[in-house]
Amino acid sequence: MHAGMLSHLECARCGRVHDAHVIQNVCHDCASPLLARYDLAGVAKPTGGDSLWRYRDVLPVRDPDPAFSLGEGMTPLVPLPALSRELDVHLLMKDEALIPTGSFKARGAAVGVARAKELGVEGIKMPTNGNAGAAWALYAARAGLRSVIAMPEDAPLITREEVAASGAELRVVPGTIADAARAIADVDLFDASTLREPYRIEGKKTMGYEIVEQLGWRVPDVIVYPTGGGVGLIGIHKALHEMRELGWIGGKLPRLVAVQSTGCAPIVRAFDEGGAESVFWDGAYTSAFGINVPKPLGDFIILRAIRETGGTATAVTDEQVEADRAECARREGVFLCPEGAATISAVRELRGTGWLEADDEVVVLNTGAGIKYPAVRR
Ligand SMILES: *Cc1c(COP(=O)(O)O)cnc(C)c1O
Ligand SMILES: [Zn+2]
Repeated sequence: MHAGMLSHLECARCGRVHDAHVIQNVCHDCASPLLARYDLAGVAKPTGGDSLWRYRDVLPVRDPDPAFSLGEGMTPLVPLPALSRELDVHLLMKDEALIPTGSFKARGAAVGVARAKELGVEGIKMPTNGNAGAAWALYAARAGLRSVIAMPEDAPLITREEVAASGAELRVVPGTIADAARAIADVDLFDASTLREPYRIEGKKTMGYEIVEQLGWRVPDVIVYPTGGGVGLIGIHKALHEMRELGWIGGKLPRLVAVQSTGCAPIVRAFDEGGAESVFWDGAYTSAFGINVPKPLGDFIILRAIRETGGTATAVTDEQVEADRAECARREGVFLCPEGAATISAVRELRGTGWLEADDEVVVLNTGAGIKYPAVRR
């Protein structure tokens, strides 16, 4: 028996309450993402386990089956001393390279697949830019669920191989992730695409719990996140609110920073213009594939989280990202994924403008393994 209990799902836009004990996708009224709500009374800080399941009291799976776990979570928080000295901030990297499937999508997949299985789903379908499909296909294989995964033909080849190897039905589609979504629209399986399923956020929010726990139950000044669909940023923000409600942290939250590419920056544009939502970004392109999302479904939640915490949004070029990727490997011995390197570029930029102050404690997310993207320009 655990103390925390999933109580209901709440629409992030209109607040309508939905039953959490049956299969759900988006809000029945306004088609917005649903957020899991818990009865938090009596939940104590975790003590056992070295995976994300140590936070099971604030996760939706009633009875997590250890047999479905691949050891996801509790990734290291690594200091970056050379860059810290250069930029005069305390830079720490949450390193999601060290996680099953090679990207932090494993967190969302581990929790999402386990919950889908518990609710009696037979299989999942999903359009993907690569890493999400790989993670969900592999966790589905682990849990004995079918999966149908569609991806654009220029998605990273390694993620395509991961999906194919998992035994998923793989459809490679010309065009973008939107075309991939159309290609599986009439497949009759549970739609697990980004934010059309309530529990991926729950998996990803564990990054927020871990960062705070690894700092000795306190928050950093700033958290910098490479933002595509924004699930991780929304999840970290949700975790911070839950921890505040639980009394595990004080009132002040870290400033959340959304990093995008100058080739696809809908959140940055909306943030700068004061918009509550983003506008579709035409001709989106960046070699940081994980953040190539022209109109995130959860844009309004991302923008709310950034503004509420006094954060910001900033875009960086692919050229700067590649330069920082090489720089980080050379000076810190850390081979970042392009999306992770984008956070370093953003810190450089925000320190240059003075938005980041000397001595700020800054946590950046390296969301995947550099070795999944072997080519690097020097
Ligand atoms: C999916 C992905 C992102 C973006 O994640 P969101 O939470 O959807 O914004 C960043 N980096 C990598 C490596 C990814 O695969
Ligand atoms: Zn709604």
